[in-house]
Amino acid sequence: MNEMELKFLSRSENEIFARNAVAAFILPLNPSLAELSDVKTAVSEAVTNAIVHGYGGKEGWITLRCRTEKHSLHIEISDSGKGIDDIERAQQPFYTTASEEERSGMGFTIMQTFMNKFSLQSDRGAGTTVIMEKDFGAKAGINAR
Ligand code: ATP
Ligand code: MG
Repeated sequence: MNEMELKFLSRSENEIFARNAVAAFILPLNPSLAELSDVKTAVSEAVTNAIVHGYGGKEGWITLRCRTEKHSLHIEISDSGKGIDDIERAQQPFYTTASEEERSGMGFTIMQTFMNKFSLQSDRGAGTTVIMEKDFGAKAGINAR
């Protein structure tokens, strides 16, 4: 078991920082390139949401927590931004509150697809937490790694 926690500002350059920090943290688990890419994409989507929607361009803290077991990653990404009114609706494919910014509304769907477990907690005015898990080596075969 290993654990880490990072706290960084809601600046757009920190999306790259966050996804690469997580990638570096999980390297000892020997993920496949596909698994690594899935995790990085999911982290990017969650951090981008915190920056764009949670804080709406204002500066605030984003907290990233990771816990690894031998073959799995548990990850939590939290903001203290505006929160989500209807979390069921927010998770619908193509649902976005920012269509004028050319957002596709696919962030949560991507996180759900690329990770093995996904859940969302949010309170209006208090912030949002995305919780995700990924199992590594699930399809470990000759071609999978
Ligand atoms: P895309 O991710 O495809 O660029 P999107 O960000 O609008 O578009 P999702 O990531 O699926 O799509 O998020 C759906 C909606 O949920 C957002 O439009 C926004 O209204 C809300 N949302 C998501 N994350 C947060 C957050 N951290 N804080 C507040 N609202 C959020
Ligand atoms: Mg998004």
